[in-house]
Amino acid sequence: MKLSLVKIKQLADHLQRLSVLGSMTLSTCMAHSGDGNWQERSCPIVYGGGRTMWHFKQTVELPAAWREGLVTMRFDLDVPKDRTACEGLLFVNGRRSFGLDRNHKEYVLPEDAVRGGTLELEVEAFAGITENLYQFKAPQVCLLDPMMQELSMWLKNLAEAVECLELHDPAHYKLHDLLHDACIRLDLFAPRSDSFFSSVQSALEVIQGGLSALPRDGFAPTLIAVGHSHIDIAYLWTIADARRKSVHTFTTIMALMDQYPEFTYFQSMPQIYAYIEEDAPDLFRQIQARAQEGRWEVEGGMWVESDCNIPSGESLVRQFLHGMRYVKEKFGKSCEMLWMPDVFGYNAALPQILKQCGIRYFMTTKLSWNEVNDFPHDTFGWVGIDGSEVLAHYISAPERNLDVYTYNGFLDPKSVWQTWENYKSKAINDHLLIAFGHGDGGGGPTAEMVESGRRMAALPRLPQTKFGTALEYFRELERRVRLREDLPSWKGELYLEFHRGTYTSQAKNKRFNRQSEWLYREAELWGAVANFHDVRVLERLADGWKLILKNQFHDILPGSGIPEVFEDSDRDYEQILAIGREVLEAGLSAVASRIAADDEPGIVVFNSLPWDRGGWVEVDGRTLWVDSVPALGYRTISWKELEAWSRVPASASVGGAWSISTEKMENELIRILFAPNGQLLSVFDKQANREVLAPGEAGNVLELFEDRPIRNDAWNIDYDFPLKRREVTELVGVQVVFDNGLRGAVQFTWTWNRSTIVQKVIVHRDSKRIDFDTRVDWQERQVLLKAAFPVDVQSAYATYDIQFGNLQRSTLKNTSWDEAQFEMCAQKWVDLSEGGYGVSLLNDCKYGHDIKGHTMRITLIKSGIYPDPLADHGDHTFCYSLFPHQGSWHTAGTNREAYEVNIPLQARVMESGGSSGGRDLPKEYSYLQVEGEHVMLETVKPAEAGNGVILRFHEYGNQRGPVTVRSARPIKAVEAVNLLEEPVSPLAEADAFKMGEHSLEFRVTPYQIRTFRVVLG
Ligand SMILES: [Zn+2]
Repeated sequence: MKLSLVKIKQLADHLQRLSVLGSMTLSTCMAHSGDGNWQERSCPIVYGGGRTMWHFKQTVELPAAWREGLVTMRFDLDVPKDRTACEGLLFVNGRRSFGLDRNHKEYVLPEDAVRGGTLELEVEAFAGITENLYQFKAPQVCLLDPMMQELSMWLKNLAEAVECLELHDPAHYKLHDLLHDACIRLDLFAPRSDSFFSSVQSALEVIQGGLSALPRDGFAPTLIAVGHSHIDIAYLWTIADARRKSVHTFTTIMALMDQYPEFTYFQSMPQIYAYIEEDAPDLFRQIQARAQEGRWEVEGGMWVESDCNIPSGESLVRQFLHGMRYVKEKFGKSCEMLWMPDVFGYNAALPQILKQCGIRYFMTTKLSWNEVNDFPHDTFGWVGIDGSEVLAHYISAPERNLDVYTYNGFLDPKSVWQTWENYKSKAINDHLLIAFGHGDGGGGPTAEMVESGRRMAALPRLPQTKFGTALEYFRELERRVRLREDLPSWKGELYLEFHRGTYTSQAKNKRFNRQSEWLYREAELWGAVANFHDVRVLERLADGWKLILKNQFHDILPGSGIPEVFEDSDRDYEQILAIGREVLEAGLSAVASRIAADDEPGIVVFNSLPWDRGGWVEVDGRTLWVDSVPALGYRTISWKELEAWSRVPASASVGGAWSISTEKMENELIRILFAPNGQLLSVFDKQANREVLAPGEAGNVLELFEDRPIRNDAWNIDYDFPLKRREVTELVGVQVVFDNGLRGAVQFTWTWNRSTIVQKVIVHRDSKRIDFDTRVDWQERQVLLKAAFPVDVQSAYATYDIQFGNLQRSTLKNTSWDEAQFEMCAQKWVDLSEGGYGVSLLNDCKYGHDIKGHTMRITLIKSGIYPDPLADHGDHTFCYSLFPHQGSWHTAGTNREAYEVNIPLQARVMESGGSSGGRDLPKEYSYLQVEGEHVMLETVKPAEAGNGVILRFHEYGNQRGPVTVRSARPIKAVEAVNLLEEPVSPLAEADAFKMGEHSLEFRVTPYQIRTFRVVLG
């Protein structure tokens, strides 16, 4: 007969209770609700009422007999499960000591505090973001028996280990025998008697002796455990709440570090460190000291754990630039790892961005959330569109009650065992990583987890666990798998088959983000051109960028936060745009003030794109046509000249082909016909002599879908969304609103339910591009709005613009992988082309698309109801454009067209005043010209440090070849740099370049990003 595991676990619990040798209950406390008016109250004390901060205090005199013992304090703040951010912070003798929440209720008093005997206790309790009331229960001070605690932990952990081991494993029986023997020794006839205490000691000896005598087979996997807390800086709480959570969490970590010298902790996100620096400078210094010691790991690379679908390539670069600069400055180290446990898909440009930032490793758990397909590897080489490769590893720790991996792991035998069981790459590696600790809203590891972790290495068969750092883990992993020929690789994006609604939710944030990205491009570019190296300007830009980066956090930009999160981000964007506009204006005026002006009054038009272009400009409240502005340069034009261009008589403009009416819009290249309900009946390409739309189908169909995902409302669009479909057809108004022979606009107004959609369809001279300039007053909930274009094009794949490049995705449903990608993310454009002809769909702030079969759709509005019940209610402004073309998207210039849709020409009224007084610039000028049709000059910015201008190019045609950059100003020096603006080794052949007096020549490979620091004369 053997004691059952159930009985043994019961004994462990019983011992835990018995280990309390004495306790004191504090039946009263002084309390106040934030007004400083302390009053004595009996516990439990009711507290709460929405965003209030409560204070409780009491003085405790420890009995003399306790002052050498193990003394703990227990607090119960009645913290609910519903993540309302209700939590507290304990101060002992005026010192910030421990974070109190649902999982952290017991604080082990440090020895010096116990010896001192008098404890001034104060608890600061935040009552959460709801109006709910809670109870501050009577705190307890307990004297514990360490040996009983120790035995209890052993029994619990060993019993759990036995449960993990299979019945055919001899270790299962050996461990069970050991537990049985120990428990039989335990004399519970007279608890706390002398014979009981000596039986505890003898049981412990049985276990310790037995474990060391067990044979080691030498084949157990190894596992590095690192403490961690996922702190969403905004989600079901606001940034202010997350700042408080961070202080609480890190205080707890410090206490655990004092208590357990082997305990290590990992924390990403410089943004959080910057908050701590401000909110708790003493805590920040403690963190710096622990980091110095190597026990607190500062890693992760990015400024925040950013969304990776929506931010532009340049934004992602800045995440690393600002993130890693901060870590260098405050912690004196660089980062080697991208830590992205909880982000909703990873774009195919990331491996190259990582490589060029010196990041070698990538960690996530999120791909295990795939709805349909099991991602085949947990350790692999992740290869980007350009061929760059980083080592990727998924932490495979089990999420309790869900069949997915987690970054909020437990540390106990079951968790480490399942981490190994789950791990899909056993054939190539048996060295694993676990990040343990409570998270999403902070909290972090508990003492119990660390206690378990301490024992794990002694348990046979289970992964041999030790505390360590994630970087140490990755370096060892790399050493083990680097030379293996069977290390699998995965090329392209890591698409998450889940959370596809995050490309669209909270459209306002997506729009602000896009606007900010372009505004900062312009501001930096004209700032660099105007020779800004003023430290203050650079600091302003850095401040603005950090706000942009913060708002790209993976529950802000994806739209998955509570309403207050977006109220905060509105304020941030106001500031972001103000800074950007201020720097831009200063840059433009600095350039304009140097242009030799005529007596003839006029305007100066700036073009920040590296090719000559014409376009519409808004100036003095008027929209005017400018026929050509030099690449990355400007042109001055007199009012007289402008008037002449803008007054082209309709009939004369394009040989009579021009016609704008509510039934038909036509220019020399294209003719579109409208149905009575406003949809497109026909889009005829006159140049190609063919219809663009599929036979019998209408275009620009505004489609509505019932959008009630099973769960995660703001995050998800479910597979079955097309089943309930309606069309917007109730046209209540149509009129020609503009026609000057160069541009014509017909405005359609539809209503649907309580919403109104007003759309200007715009046709331009000399262009096949049709713009749909749209304003929506949206009053629906859980309804998805898309615009559909069924086109007469046959192709098995479509092309999607992504960060620093593009990729192809299937239009078929042949495989489960194709099928699972029923909603996809793109940056500025998507394209569906067959041999010789195709159609591109461009946008100025939208991301969600689906192209299956021959229908191209762009997702416009989502409007989920959780966590924001009124998400996307109200005004929307956006533009999408249909661009039918001959040839491929590349030869037809889709990419350039998309930049032009996004980045308008800038015009300013010129001050007249002769050519004297520093007016040394000509009337028309091109600063830089790029020869290389497939290469984009993405960024021109002042260098972060020192003089010089940073020029960043990226290849987008999947093509290699030479690039020549011509500069009007003499080039004094050139240096190839990485994305962090550090010089790259000149030895690498790929980094070679040739500098001329006014030119820079280099080569690119497909999708390569190249950055140079250039000093101009
Ligand atoms: Zn998260």
